[in-house]
Amino acid sequence: MNDNPMQQHRIIGILGGGQLGRMTIQAAQKLGLRGHVFCSEDHSPAGQVADAVTVAAYHDRSALAAFAEQVDIITYEFENIPLESIDFLAQHRPVRPGRLALEISQNRIREKEFLNHIPGIATAPYRPIETVDALAPALNALGLPAILKSACYGYDGKGQVRIDQAKDLDAAWRQASRDGGAVLEAFVTYQKEISVIVGRGIDGQIRCFEPSHNSHVNHILDISRVPAGLKPSLAEQAADMAEYIAQTLDLVGLLAVEMFVTRDDQLLVNEIAPRPHNSGHWTMDGCKTSQFTQFVLAVTGAPLGDPGRSCDVEMKNLIGEDFSRRDQIVLPNDHIHIYGKSDIRPGRKMGHVNRTRPFGAVGVPFAPAQPLDTKRG
Ligand code: AMP
Repeated sequence: MNDNPMQQHRIIGILGGGQLGRMTIQAAQKLGLRGHVFCSEDHSPAGQVADAVTVAAYHDRSALAAFAEQVDIITYEFENIPLESIDFLAQHRPVRPGRLALEISQNRIREKEFLNHIPGIATAPYRPIETVDALAPALNALGLPAILKSACYGYDGKGQVRIDQAKDLDAAWRQASRDGGAVLEAFVTYQKEISVIVGRGIDGQIRCFEPSHNSHVNHILDISRVPAGLKPSLAEQAADMAEYIAQTLDLVGLLAVEMFVTRDDQLLVNEIAPRPHNSGHWTMDGCKTSQFTQFVLAVTGAPLGDPGRSCDVEMKNLIGEDFSRRDQIVLPNDHIHIYGKSDIRPGRKMGHVNRTRPFGAVGVPFAPAQPLDTKRG
């Protein structure tokens, strides 16, 4: 029997055709592996670089069965995949990370219940909201301002409403609720937002990337900076928390943990994602092993790589029209990564740029993006 995991798993099947899948396949190919993408659209960013592509609906059993037949191991690059499809695929091939991580991260209510049950982990105070009538009492309990978020299918601020006054609650409910209801969260006045990405291998080996400091504009990640400017004790605590969550999920793969650092130096978890994450793109040019390589190593059962940092880094997303004016953003030594999307749309992530500099050196910072309503094309 061949017990080299990299040789056993020669074709990685990836559910999802976005940029995270694209960069995962590129990392896999550098390791001598091949990538087969299963997604619902033609010409996807991942499909363009994959060795094979299946275009079908995520619940199409015969397409899923044929896909499983052609790959050695299966993973996913986004959360909105039917759990029944994961269960079905798991009968044919190993699916990593498994069902639990997906089930929890798909639904904000389940996610917050799970997180708050882990000793030492807390989120912002919240209330599950199943009907509009539950909103006023929940606002009373949590206070104003608060944020109403759809429980499922929300990302980049979609399906979210900030509530500053206890009026027009019907409109807020209509905006945020989807199948699966919503969750009301107390508004956190944080000093900064950070995230930690942790890799966990099949044997439980854990390797954590340094936290990044993340700035958002229009609810979308704009810039990640590393080092994050945290006190060493807080950085260590953030890593311990991310590792502990990954262990509790018995996760094999990558887990991104977004956190708020409150004004009194508490860490509150905002959300988790069991996959590579936008706030980890800095690792592509700033670490000995990138988040995508680590992801591939973990899900294929190989020993994890060294996540140590080799320089200071700033990552800036190229969003919407930033892509057309990227000449004004990118400096000669920057590392640019483009996702192969043909249509530029407001809020659409088209690529990102990593700006590296030696440890502790002063560099030219990226200018922050402008809020949409004042932005000029
Ligand atoms: P999310 O989709 O939950 O990641 O939220 C998107 C962004 O909205 C976050 O990165 C924060 O900038 C902001 N946000 C979300 N929840 C809260 C909260 N409870 N308090 C303050 N800001 C929040």
